[in-house]
Amino acid sequence: MSSTLRFQIVGEAFTKRPVEVPNRKERPSEFFAKYVFTRQKMSHYLPSDIYRKMCDVIDNGAALDMTTADAVAAGMKKWAMELGATHCTHWFQPLTEGTAEKHDGFVEHDGEGGMVEEFTGKQLVQQEPDASSFPSGGIRSTFEARGYSAWDPTSPVFVLGDTLMIPTIFISYTGEALDYKAPLKKSLKAVDRAATAVARYFYPDVTRVVSNLGWEQEYFLVDEGLYAARPDLLMTGRTLLGHDSAKNQQMDDHYFGSIPMRVAAFMKDLEIHALELGIPCKTRHNEVAPNQFELAPIYEETNLAVDHNMLIMSLMKRTARKHGFRCLLHEKPFAGINGSGKHCNWSLTTDNGILLHGPGKTPLDNLRFVTFIVESLMAVYRHNGLLKASIISATNVHRLGASEAPPAIVSSFLGKQLSDLLEHLENSSDDELINLSGKQTLSLDIPQIPELTQDNTDRNRTSPFAFTGNRFEFRAVGSQQNCAAAMIVLNTAMAEALTNFKTRVDALIADGMEPMKAILRTVREDIKTCKPIRFDGNGYSEAWKQEAARRGLDIETSAPLILDQYLTPETVEMFSRMNVLTKAELEARNEIKLDTYIKKIQIEARIFGDICMNHIIPVATRYQTQLIDNVRKMKAILPADEADRLNRPNLSLIQQMGEHNAFIVENVERLIEARRVANRIRDGRERAIAYHDTVAPLIEAIRYHVDHLELIVDDELWPLPKYREMLFIH
Ligand code: ADP
Ligand code: MG
Repeated sequence: MSSTLRFQIVGEAFTKRPVEVPNRKERPSEFFAKYVFTRQKMSHYLPSDIYRKMCDVIDNGAALDMTTADAVAAGMKKWAMELGATHCTHWFQPLTEGTAEKHDGFVEHDGEGGMVEEFTGKQLVQQEPDASSFPSGGIRSTFEARGYSAWDPTSPVFVLGDTLMIPTIFISYTGEALDYKAPLKKSLKAVDRAATAVARYFYPDVTRVVSNLGWEQEYFLVDEGLYAARPDLLMTGRTLLGHDSAKNQQMDDHYFGSIPMRVAAFMKDLEIHALELGIPCKTRHNEVAPNQFELAPIYEETNLAVDHNMLIMSLMKRTARKHGFRCLLHEKPFAGINGSGKHCNWSLTTDNGILLHGPGKTPLDNLRFVTFIVESLMAVYRHNGLLKASIISATNVHRLGASEAPPAIVSSFLGKQLSDLLEHLENSSDDELINLSGKQTLSLDIPQIPELTQDNTDRNRTSPFAFTGNRFEFRAVGSQQNCAAAMIVLNTAMAEALTNFKTRVDALIADGMEPMKAILRTVREDIKTCKPIRFDGNGYSEAWKQEAARRGLDIETSAPLILDQYLTPETVEMFSRMNVLTKAELEARNEIKLDTYIKKIQIEARIFGDICMNHIIPVATRYQTQLIDNVRKMKAILPADEADRLNRPNLSLIQQMGEHNAFIVENVERLIEARRVANRIRDGRERAIAYHDTVAPLIEAIRYHVDHLELIVDDELWPLPKYREMLFIH
């Protein structure tokens, strides 16, 4: 690209982008879930006995027979075709970060030379996509390349464009999970079982507990023209070079600022599509960094919330293009300013509507509240390293520990009120706290926690796992990740904590202790045990790193080593005991994670080397030559001493550029060599470590020099859009 082209692109970005504000007359309540096969539509399109059977399948996990499946498929087909669908697909979440789909037309031969639309129960329920090129971590070698996808009836089918989308799990022929959804569903079942058992101590009517997830999706928008002129953004999703813009986020003027016009049009358009697809969009706002924004829906049951998040990420990308933007979901697209995360708000609710993480009004509610809070802390304490492993990636590492995001140590912030309460419980005796009269009415000296005490719970922005009034907010999840990875760990760990809790409580009860007393005693024990996870201070400080290490928390920062947490005996034991993932599945998953890590850095290193050699060095040299030429000419026309004096600044620049150029060229060579050496390592984990230790740091080291050249070289020659252009044009 020539330099004039850069100005052309910037000019166009500024002036030629149309703002198309979607104009929709109906209210959101009128078009919400228009393209979703909701229960209401099921009852309309299915015979009533089939509808009832389907409800039983969805609510109670009843088995689905083929006759029912055929009848459901027929109703679905009718509904979908009325909306213009011509194809269907099983929509699944392989162990890449995105989703996968393969569309099949409804058409079949009618046997008389024509065609007819067909969609059977078999097609709805199970398919065998030739999925041999999805990552399987060696579970499915190519000679048995079959995997199959199976319908998940708890997440409703929907129509997207001309296609009926069927959410499915994806498993190998021998039954191992090859996706996120299968283990997610198992973890939800595990937490349901364990939490129901504990909730029944307090409320005997409870029959089911549901895990809730409310995600907050952050993203950047960059003008499409500028994006296309940045090979690094195009190939890796982040800028590998680029000097800070003079103004970035230091004025704090973007956060919650008024939403730029073209962005507002994009958001409106996105929301309409999302609402039509049943995603309950609620909040939108400018985020802290320039051109950074957030979207959050109302929270939903976790499995559905995960599907909706996967769907919204793909809708965001499509809709952005319609408005002349590219949507960046990378966790750190720009150095020096905030990256993007996906806060995951998590809580448990019973089938009779009790929010188990929310404080209540009666003493009984309070003990239940404390129990679920403390057992959540136990889960996070026992598996803090694993929780970190669930969100670590080659891209999210750039955000974690950078000064705006949670640090690379998982700890929990409870706020003063709740901390005081736990302190109080820890230090008082059973008899002080609990007073059972003859009629078994309970009076419990637990101070009330008023609902929504956000003011003193949400203040510590550095905390990765913060209590925010009636839920925990896990803030370390990366913006482009599938939140299922974190939700699998969190819900399984919670299931384990609650199971252990119940075993101990039941033992005390069996010994004749009154149940509430047994609960209180066990809670008190756990308050003591999990104390090291509680931290209300500054998570960025050096002192905390040392303190955390003393407390036995995981302080590892190298991604490949963090991933070891997936294979520790405690992890393997937890997942197999809770029946979520087997050791073989964990090993396979880790292999995939390491492989993805390596490939991401490999691609970055290659594209970065190319940009250095093909874009940066040539223009830097050209500019340097211009200066040399100028020096020579000055010498020719001026008296020697005057020329020497006036040439001094340019000579200094020439020299600085020479140093930068030399460093870049030499180290791009080293970068290539480091890759070569790493690639020869057979063992995946060792190879990932080599990429982490030798390849990644070189990229950063070289970048420093490239970014300094950007400050020196004539702006007219500079080939790539600059930070100030990408971040401030909208
Ligand atoms: P913020 O954390 O920025 O203050 P909100 O209070 O709007 O944002 O909540 C963020 C997300 O948390 C939303 O998706 C919201 O629906 C969700 N949320 C609220 N209460 C709960 C809960 N009890 N369990 C899970 N998610 C919740
Ligand atoms: Mg939040």
